[in-house]
Amino acid sequence: KRCKGSGRIETHQTHIFAEARSQFAMETALRHAIEQRRLRLAYQPICDLATGAIASFEALARWTDVDGTEHSPVSFIPVAEESGLIVPLGRWAIDEAARTLADWDRQAGGHCGARLAVNLSAIQMQRDIVAPVVGDALRRHGLTGDRFSLELTESAIVSDPDRVAQTMHALKALGCKLAMDDFGTGYSNLAYLQSLPIDILKIDRSFVTGMLADRDKVAIVRAILSLAQALGMQTTAEGVETTELSQTLAALGCTNGQGYFYARPLESDAALAMLLASRPA
Ligand code: C2E
Ligand code: CA
Ligand code: CA
Ligand code: CA
Repeated sequence: KRCKGSGRIETHQTHIFAEARSQFAMETALRHAIEQRRLRLAYQPICDLATGAIASFEALARWTDVDGTEHSPVSFIPVAEESGLIVPLGRWAIDEAARTLADWDRQAGGHCGARLAVNLSAIQMQRDIVAPVVGDALRRHGLTGDRFSLELTESAIVSDPDRVAQTMHALKALGCKLAMDDFGTGYSNLAYLQSLPIDILKIDRSFVTGMLADRDKVAIVRAILSLAQALGMQTTAEGVETTELSQTLAALGCTNGQGYFYARPLESDAALAMLLASRPA
């Protein structure tokens, strides 16, 4: 009996050690990738559901390791958060997004017609002075604040409401738009929605995927849309993978959609090509 029990513990510990080791290996590799500027941003269009016109692009971090491994942000963002690397990573993402936008404007011979959305993590907002970082990036690349939106999650607000509110107001003062990401998945009371300067609610993909066959999901999406409308906010549905979903969401009154139906996250050149091709002549 004793043997069996300790064996189980040993297996469990081995597992924990293996996990800690791979976590540390990823942290080291990620630190180098940030220092050597080997991360990239991919750009996924966010489209007007009624017309299909591109409203903005969301910038999403991408990391191809030296050995060719493509790491998902779902795995490396948490490592960045736990290690503190989210601060340099986040600063890089903000500057890289601004640099890309300035580059697109140059290539378009003027305002390229799109805004970029950058993700802010809760830990990043706790540990960095995000609004001045955004302000610097805009200035450095000669952009006005209205070209940027920042996506934050409910967990950011819960973690430090006063600090986050301050950051949000400072970002609004720069002219940026603010989006609540993954709306409906966080644990928070809704009071913050009326007290904070939020422009856009992004309806989490978990409510959109499969909603055509699930009346409960439709009910939740409807509720979020009417809440947003009552509060004067725009709405973006995540995970729009089919024509049917885009049409249903448009009929329900959702403003924008993002998902594989429009495009997967694209390399910068491909994103600009899609934007220029979609502009009225
Ligand atoms: P998110 O902010 O919710 O970003 C949307 C995710 O959904 C992206 O995954 C995108 O590729 C994926 N997606 C878009 N359309 C569809 C669709 O139609 N179907 C499906 N199944 N998926 C779709 P990705 O790029 O793997 O990013 C995952 C998460 O990692 C993001 O979720 C975000 O939370 C985080 N992340 C990515 N880049 C950054 C970054 O630069 N900073 C921070 N703090 N977080 C980031
Ligand atoms: Ca996002
Ligand atoms: Ca999201
Ligand atoms: Ca999501």
